[in-house]
Amino acid sequence: MSRTVVVGSGISGLTVAALLAKAGRQVLVLEKKPLAGGALHRFKRRKIPFDVGFHYTGNLGPGDITRRLWRYLGVEPLVAITPFPRDGHDHLQIHGRAQPVQASFSYPRLTAHLKEQFPAEQGAIDRYFAVIQEICAQIPFYNLDLPLTPFLQGMASRHLPLAAFLDSLTSNQELQAVFALPTFLYGVPVSRARLDVHAMVAHSYYMGAYTVAGGGQAIVDAHLKILARYGAEVRTSAAVEAIVDDGRRVSGVLVDGEFIAGTDLIFTGHPTAMIDLVNRDFFRPAYTSRLRELENTMSMYALFGRLPAGAAQEALQWRNYYSLPPGPAEFHDFMGCSPAQRQLMMSSPGARDSQSLSAGGEGVILLAPAHWQEMARFHDSTPRNRSAAYGAFKEEVAARMIDHAARTWGAAYGAMEPLAVGTPLTFRDELSAPQGSCYGAMYCLGQYNPGVRTRLPGLWLSGQSTLMTGVVGAALGALVTAGEMTGLEGLWEEVRQCP
Ligand SMILES: Cc1cc2nc3c(=O)[nH]c(=O)nc-3n(C[C@H](O)[C@H](O)[C@H](O)COP(=O)(O)OP(=O)(O)OC[C@H]3O[C@@H](n4cnc5c(N)ncnc54)[C@H](O)[C@@H]3O)c2cc1C
Repeated sequence: MSRTVVVGSGISGLTVAALLAKAGRQVLVLEKKPLAGGALHRFKRRKIPFDVGFHYTGNLGPGDITRRLWRYLGVEPLVAITPFPRDGHDHLQIHGRAQPVQASFSYPRLTAHLKEQFPAEQGAIDRYFAVIQEICAQIPFYNLDLPLTPFLQGMASRHLPLAAFLDSLTSNQELQAVFALPTFLYGVPVSRARLDVHAMVAHSYYMGAYTVAGGGQAIVDAHLKILARYGAEVRTSAAVEAIVDDGRRVSGVLVDGEFIAGTDLIFTGHPTAMIDLVNRDFFRPAYTSRLRELENTMSMYALFGRLPAGAAQEALQWRNYYSLPPGPAEFHDFMGCSPAQRQLMMSSPGARDSQSLSAGGEGVILLAPAHWQEMARFHDSTPRNRSAAYGAFKEEVAARMIDHAARTWGAAYGAMEPLAVGTPLTFRDELSAPQGSCYGAMYCLGQYNPGVRTRLPGLWLSGQSTLMTGVVGAALGALVTAGEMTGLEGLWEEVRQCP
């Protein structure tokens, strides 16, 4: 039987591999890092678990499409999906505003709270939520009665600017900041953001937020079990160095000089990285330069720290904290602006399951937008030869973030002990993410992300840059890729009918 090779073992690679293996294909997953999981990998410091790329997600409620997908694959019984409780919320501290805003994961509760907080803006609030819901009623991933093909074909034509929409609703900068908050979850500055993409991401969180016991790692482990059940193989420490063709179509890959045969290949890393692996004669120069010039989502500074036991357990368990400037967030314009003016997110995914509560201290993650150019003097370094200056830079970053957290949310957070610090270089080197981008290529005004088909027969794309970002976006992108390979509407029918 001919073999299908999947490059990358993040949620995209695991999902597309599981779908194809379930469909009867012989599947081999190749992952360059020693452990599978990509951004979903969970690591430990002083026994405290930390998630890299999974803090919370929407779309895992009963009947939601990602839940159906997990049920279809057999993943659902292997993971404990936990909804945030009724009082769980995003806690927004807008600079200069006395009252925090509680952004609940519920349309009715969020609407009621915003109307209390912004009594003069009732019309803007109603209109914002009505438009988001109208858009999502036309998206098959939310309205399961719809076919997928027309939606996917129309994606390129729906570029309406989010910023103009927000301006049409209100001039209240604090309310605009609340509406714009989900841009942080797909990494596009408001001036570049598309209304349809915003709606797609925001709606999922306004419908409900979820976590999985054991974090992103539990999602990975469940997929690995399913792959084993379907007879698929996963090889780690296997970096694909070249995609080989026989002059007509893909014939395999090179890993450490070894040829591994495969007649179909799905590349789930960043699309720009694919270009250097193939025989470019198959592609038009315009396609090659389009992929090379894709603009990327923001990068981040990430601090993985520890608070003394009991310091903030309750506060952190079912809330994410955001400190943000009023007005739309311009992640890419903060070069030179004071760190205190940047957004900061504080979250503790590990506090949401029993594993970490017994670890003697609380794990806290701080995330702040970072720009690739801020790291210019360290770009040439690798994890093996980082300089002392880089170490000092990371210490400075950590101190700034802790200071910001303590000033915003209380002195107790000043006692945070940094256990690890990530920078754009970390994301570049650990996730193979160009410019350390956290969510891949931007879905934004004026940019057309590549589709899953390529002109090299047998070569397909998947991953967070091909349909949508985030755990849900990447998993659904994998569904689209597997569907394009095996029959899109047939697979869509099977998954959406899965009760
Ligand atoms: C800091 C941070 C916070 C986030 N928070 C959230 C959140 O709270 N909720 C949410 O839904 N999403 C979040 N995300 C986004 C989410 O994690 C990603 O969108 C998603 O996990 C991407 O999955 P992927 O499979 O497309 O890519 P990845 O997980 O990056 O997987 C790609 C894999 O391909 C491998 N690879 C690349 N090139 C090769 C090669 N040549 N050979 C072999 N292997 C290769 C890489 O090593 C990697 O393992 C966050 C991301 C980050 C970075």
